[in-house]
Amino acid sequence: MHDVLIIGAGLAGLSAARELTKRNIPWHILEASGSVGGRVATDEVDGFLLDRGFQILLDAYPEARQILDYGELNLRPFHAGAKIWLGDKFTTVSNPLEHPQHALSTLFAPIGSLSDKFAMLTLRSMLNRSSLDDIFERRERTTSEYLKNFGFSERIKERFFTPFLGGVFLDSKLDTSSRMFEFVFKMFASGKATLPAAGMGRIPRQMALQLDSSRIRLNSPVASLEENDGAGVVRLASGETLRAKAVIIATNWHTASHLISTMPTASRPAFQAPKSRSTTCLYFAADTAPFAEPMLVLNGTGRGLVNNICVPSNVAPLYAPKGQALVSASVIGSPQTDDETLVAAVRKEMTAYFGAEVQSWRHLRTYHIEHALPDQTPPALAPPERLARLTNALFMAGDHRTTGSIQGALVSGRHTAEAVAALLS
Ligand SMILES: Cc1cc2nc3c(=O)[nH]c(=O)nc-3n(C[C@H](O)[C@H](O)[C@H](O)COP(=O)(O)OP(=O)(O)OC[C@H]3O[C@@H](n4cnc5c(N)ncnc54)[C@H](O)[C@@H]3O)c2cc1C
Repeated sequence: MHDVLIIGAGLAGLSAARELTKRNIPWHILEASGSVGGRVATDEVDGFLLDRGFQILLDAYPEARQILDYGELNLRPFHAGAKIWLGDKFTTVSNPLEHPQHALSTLFAPIGSLSDKFAMLTLRSMLNRSSLDDIFERRERTTSEYLKNFGFSERIKERFFTPFLGGVFLDSKLDTSSRMFEFVFKMFASGKATLPAAGMGRIPRQMALQLDSSRIRLNSPVASLEENDGAGVVRLASGETLRAKAVIIATNWHTASHLISTMPTASRPAFQAPKSRSTTCLYFAADTAPFAEPMLVLNGTGRGLVNNICVPSNVAPLYAPKGQALVSASVIGSPQTDDETLVAAVRKEMTAYFGAEVQSWRHLRTYHIEHALPDQTPPALAPPERLARLTNALFMAGDHRTTGSIQGALVSGRHTAEAVAALLS
């Protein structure tokens, strides 16, 4: 009989294993794929580093600060601001405190009124003064309603908040919980958006290197679950059966729901999986970057497929071979077209932004990520974190138990390990 079996080596599973190690509780991870990290992964293609979907690490995440060695990750910061495409030109907005040289242009950027810019400063300072506990106690509503009540105009919502937050939440209607909005905005305001120098995949790799690798079984998908005589019974797709005093389901919500459905009805715990938010990310190789700044480009027009564009190699040069640039274009959702048509449509849109040079860019790869984030429409974060323990021996961890983020996955993994430790003691 094992002490603890963890299903899934995403950030939540790795964080649970880390906490159990600290407490001298033996564990084993069963991971379906051939590598650790789950949704946080980087592929190397022709010398380019392609994160599986555009993603960033906010260095202010409190749990990430505790767990990760930022120095070893060699975090490369984004410029705090964005270039916003208005249909015929770009306008640049920056954090005036970090980039005072852009303060005036930001103040007069045609993305909202002066009162919007002051509301932005008020929001920032209010969130700087709020603790995370304060944020998760405030009334939950949709982000869209929250921004309206805060006094922001429709114009700044369309030109800035919708593409910016839409890209973060994968939700262009801004139905996502206002608690998630305040949390994310506070993280952006109190730290930097970054990329590890050698790709997002270095994050789980660093965590895995601190664990006993002989306890991580890759290519070992779990097919079904059961609870028997107070113990968890895990059946692998290979037919092997394992028993443990505690089983942590650390897969995404979609697989968790499937695994729970394999349990006999009498012992099956209640679990309501959220809907999924999806995204599509296209990567291109360019001879020269279309702009030089380490900045995000947002589509402020309210039209088109592309929500945001990034040149990761402007932020972290190792993302592209010397003398070339890597460009990513992110689309919210899953367009119902074949890949060739999608590449052509995205290329055409980007040609309007950057000119004819886009035609010479080489398409590298397109990622379709169906279960990218849990839908966090209210009351998703009330309570701010779901209970870790489902039954006597069954526990659940993952970003869908709290905020759909790197921070959420890391915290949920630790909290679940703490609940398991309480059971085993
Ligand atoms: C495109 C994209 C962009 C994102 N951008 C950001 C961002 O900028 N900032 C941020 O904070 N967060 C971002 N996120 C969210 C963040 O990546 C996730 O919240 C976090 O990685 C979730 O980790 P997890 O461990 O909960 O789940 P997962 O990463 O989904 O891990 C689950 C693990 O379980 C394994 N598994 C599944 N089924 C089985 C089975 N049957 N048996 C065994 N193992 C199984 C999977 O292979 C996987 O390794 C983004 C996510 C995506 C997809």
